[in-house]
Amino acid sequence: MSGSKKSPFEINVHDLIGRPGHMREHKLTVEAPEQLGEGLIAVKQGAEIVEDVRLESVHEGILVTGDVSTTATGECGRCLTDIAQSVEVEFQELFAYSSDEASEHEVHDDHVDLEPLVRDAVVLSLPFQPVCRPDCPGLDPETGERLADMPEKEPREVIDPRWEALARFSSRPGTEYSSASDREER
Ligand SMILES: [Zn+2]
Repeated sequence: MSGSKKSPFEINVHDLIGRPGHMREHKLTVEAPEQLGEGLIAVKQGAEIVEDVRLESVHEGILVTGDVSTTATGECGRCLTDIAQSVEVEFQELFAYSSDEASEHEVHDDHVDLEPLVRDAVVLSLPFQPVCRPDCPGLDPETGERLADMPEKEPREVIDPRWEALARFSSRPGTEYSSASDREER
């Protein structure tokens, strides 16, 4: 027996067990017990997860259909701005009365645990490369500034490295530089 601690995603279905044709709808709001997702954007621990669930009793078990909505937060993959994205996912799964190869999920005692379903559905929906907006220009490759913060700024022309060396030369105190290079040549 498991059941040392109750998952917030567990739903009691004792009134539906063995009564095919019966159906019940359930709305529940839970806090994410731990972070969902590992990428740039994830549903953080404690984030509110709203589940609209339909529980249908069928001969083999309980058919669970759910809509999940929550919010993922993280960083834009281009400019690193903090972003939040709403997540809307659906799932449907049969929780069987007896375990066999046909079904991964089972009715335990008198409840179903939706956590693995919710987790998988949410994690799979998270974008691998989240962006703050579809045309996010990202960061200036030279200064690291957010280009979106400077809409008036033209993308800077990349200076030819040879000219860049010259520019550095002219910005240094001339005497110091030339004396240093004189010493190197000897
Ligand atoms: Zn961005």
